[in-house]
Amino acid sequence: MSDKIENGMVVGLHYKLTGADGAVIDSCDDEEFLYLQGGGNIVPGLEQALEGHGVGDDVAASLTAEEGYGEREGPEPQKVSREVFPEEAELEVGAYFAAEGEEGEMLDLWISKIEGDDVYIDHNHPLAGQALNFQVKVLSVRAATEEEQEHGHPHGPDDDHHH
Ligand code: ZN
Repeated sequence: MSDKIENGMVVGLHYKLTGADGAVIDSCDDEEFLYLQGGGNIVPGLEQALEGHGVGDDVAASLTAEEGYGEREGPEPQKVSREVFPEEAELEVGAYFAAEGEEGEMLDLWISKIEGDDVYIDHNHPLAGQALNFQVKVLSVRAATEEEQEHGHPHGPDDDHHH
């Protein structure tokens, strides 16, 4: 009778993410987290685990690094000076930046460490290389609107939109 999670559905969740050691890495607190199934908004292993579930379901998913944010790869974090960032940039560990590479390609960068004026930038997502455990409660499932499908992400009730 109720909708099941499949590609093209907007899903609302409560979730808690813990690492291999059981420590809580992230949780949505009491806010409903919305994502578009099939939109790559969440890690692939979690999309897979949620496929076919419906409202009220509790889903526990243990993901390998590969099913999560991928294995760590590429060079070790690189040290740069604070000055290379725009003045208004908020520099903190875990902060994400998009940067242009030497051939004009877009690079994903995260700050992995800050020591005084030295900022370490990493090509890997902060959770790359880690096994992840998600505990999820499915709160809502509905078909995505055409606009959401086009954008590849859900629009919340008070999104005043944007691109
Ligand atoms: Zn949008």
